[in-house]
Amino acid sequence: MSLITPFFKDAVFINNEWLAADSGETIDVINPATGEKIGSVPNCGQAETARAIDAAAEAFKSWKATTADHRSNLMLALCDQIAENADALAELLTLEMGKPLNEAKGEVLGGMKYLKFFAEEARRIYGDLIPSPWGDRRLMVTKEPVGVVGAITPWNFPSSMIARKMGAALATGCTMVIKPSELTPFSALAYGVLAEKAGIPAGVINVLTGDAPAIGSEMCDNPKLRKITFTGSTRVGKLLASNAAANMKKISMELGGNAPFIVFEDADIDKAVEGAIASKFRNSGQTCVCANRVYVQAGIYDAFAAKLKDAVEAQLKPGNGMDPDTTQGPLIDERAITKVSEHLEDAVSKGGKLITGGSRAGNVGTFFEPTVVTNANSSMRVATEETFGPLALLFKFDSEAEAIELANATEYGLACYFYTKDLGRAFRVSEALEYGLVGINEGVITTEVAPFGGVKDSGMGNEGSKYGLDDYLNVKYSCFGGLGM
Ligand code: ADP
Repeated sequence: MSLITPFFKDAVFINNEWLAADSGETIDVINPATGEKIGSVPNCGQAETARAIDAAAEAFKSWKATTADHRSNLMLALCDQIAENADALAELLTLEMGKPLNEAKGEVLGGMKYLKFFAEEARRIYGDLIPSPWGDRRLMVTKEPVGVVGAITPWNFPSSMIARKMGAALATGCTMVIKPSELTPFSALAYGVLAEKAGIPAGVINVLTGDAPAIGSEMCDNPKLRKITFTGSTRVGKLLASNAAANMKKISMELGGNAPFIVFEDADIDKAVEGAIASKFRNSGQTCVCANRVYVQAGIYDAFAAKLKDAVEAQLKPGNGMDPDTTQGPLIDERAITKVSEHLEDAVSKGGKLITGGSRAGNVGTFFEPTVVTNANSSMRVATEETFGPLALLFKFDSEAEAIELANATEYGLACYFYTKDLGRAFRVSEALEYGLVGINEGVITTEVAPFGGVKDSGMGNEGSKYGLDDYLNVKYSCFGGLGM
């Protein structure tokens, strides 16, 4: 039996039972590094979703009444399970998603950090006593879990995206129905195995796979489910948000981005190159906080482009994530390859100059070379669309004001980055950028202790940090009157 066998589940997890779809239908899961099928998962729909919501609603009655200490200890037991099985979970993740094994392990353990952070936060969900305007009344504010939470997650971080949501949900006393991407369901189903091992009560965590629109609409319509937390495209996020609004459900939306990465003339160029490599090419460019548009001030443009080209060629190596030399896993599927190719062709046809990469790599799987194009301009598709792949376009700018205007010229507002050594500029530009996350002289800024969330079309709500709890809590005001005082 291989290391991953106990976690490789081809059934959905409802009320601590492992089940097939009612129809018996399944969905195949493909390894993007080889194009081979690695397994299949149930193709569930509305009926199974309703049953999972029922199980979560039943479990909520007792789970919400547990002490924070109790929930915290169970969450820490879950963390122990993750830590003990991190190698197996990483291998499973690499098989279904493609990222290098060490990054997969980093993701698994990163997810565990979110769970641990929220296990600690569970004890700090404070309320308030408000000084009363009436002598004979006392005013109390408490925070209560919203109830059953539906979580819909994408394929680019199949494990940690779930952990972020699960951490806040379990800490506050909510129960969950999780629907992972059909492209990467196994890392999600593994949470069922881990939850069972950790002793989390039946129905608190349910994981089901299948027909996304059918599952999503049941989540939006079913009155027993009170909140939807979604990470994915802006298109699907808007659809879910409008359907959830019709039923007055709470929502958290972590949607697409179009991150600008600005390098000012006074920056440390080597640091900026290092940051651009991390921010642009991490996960082969498949993160919603990946730099999408690189803006470089005129005086250092050529030097920066040359150094970035050298760094890309020296450091980045596409290949199967199981190979320890690999830094760039495959793109998730053929659609992703098509999008990168189209953005590249569009850029070159509008005057872009290809300085490295530019082609599909390898004979099998869906690999694309890390690619850099100079002479970018605002008419190119990358200026307004998220590429979600390893393509860096370098735009030239002259002034600080111009950089800010260009950076903000998008409907998205998730992450942005800029490099400068000038303290005044650091504050000025940070305040002027209309984004939820700002990296100043840093290309990777995500951590469980800080909030993560976008503005504009990038969504609403925050994950991680103390702010991440708010989306899972209702505020209750109780007025104790008739006190005879
Ligand atoms: P991506 O382009 O990153 O795959 P999507 O928004 O399409 O982004 O997918 C993110 C998640 O949303 C996945 O779990 C997917 O199955 C799910 N999804 C896609 N369409 C719908 C829908 N109509 N209703 C609910 N979930 C959906």
